[in-house]
Amino acid sequence: MPKKEFFVEMKKGYTEICVALKLLTLLTQGVFMMQADYSMPAEIKDKVSFTVDEKMKVYPFSSVKAVLTDIEGTTTSISFVHDVLFPYAKKHVWSFVKNHEADLLTILKDAAEIAGAPAASTEEIIEILAKWMEQDKKITPLKTLQGMMWEDGYQKGDFHGHVYDDAFVLMNLWKIQGLPIYVFSSGSVQAQKLLFTHSIFGDLSHLFSGHFDTKVGGKKEKGSYQNIATQIGFAPETILFLSDTLEELDAAKAAGYQTLLLTRDGTAPAGCAHPAVAAFNQIEIQ
Ligand SMILES: [Mg+2]
Repeated sequence: MPKKEFFVEMKKGYTEICVALKLLTLLTQGVFMMQADYSMPAEIKDKVSFTVDEKMKVYPFSSVKAVLTDIEGTTTSISFVHDVLFPYAKKHVWSFVKNHEADLLTILKDAAEIAGAPAASTEEIIEILAKWMEQDKKITPLKTLQGMMWEDGYQKGDFHGHVYDDAFVLMNLWKIQGLPIYVFSSGSVQAQKLLFTHSIFGDLSHLFSGHFDTKVGGKKEKGSYQNIATQIGFAPETILFLSDTLEELDAAKAAGYQTLLLTRDGTAPAGCAHPAVAAFNQIEIQ
């Protein structure tokens, strides 16, 4: 089924999915008592691959008052950034710069100066930008340009932000349970908001109580997690941090957080100091 159709149909069923999940919470003691035929409307269930295997190991968490989640590799496929966003910017750099040249003068000037070619023509600067994209350079004018191109692409519906089915369902459930969900990603707050506002499930911005990027500190630094706890007003031990990166989880744990590793392929590294799951439907917040 083409993505576009999926997106429209999910939007239509959105209220039903919320009602179904609400009923489910009232009817069961915990999320994971539900069976494959639980009361989600069939037309929604058919489109969301969300199954509960009785043999699947489920991790119960208690005393959790807030969830902090990473994006890439956790709520969202890593390949979305590499296989969708970066190629999109590469493919459209010529037409985008040509169509928006008047708005991009500062970016073009900065790029030319950084490249040591202040007198370069627009065409020459585009060549430089395209080469930087090829080399995956982290240069400010390039990052700014890519951000503008992605915003344009999201708004035009050229692509939608990827979110795993299980992450979509469980985040909805946590929201219904009254748990605030926060995001911590190395992508800018603006990029995070774009991804979730223009997701394959429609606008998910209402699910989140706040966003953090590396302005709060590095993702592998304990201090960043202390800062976030202070800013959101929860004691660290009542926050559950979800990530696919061990060093990030180690830093959050050192700051006193509860932690959980998302492996997606189901294999946890040997001696891992964090509980590990393959998907959000193995998480039970009591
Ligand atoms: Mg990640």
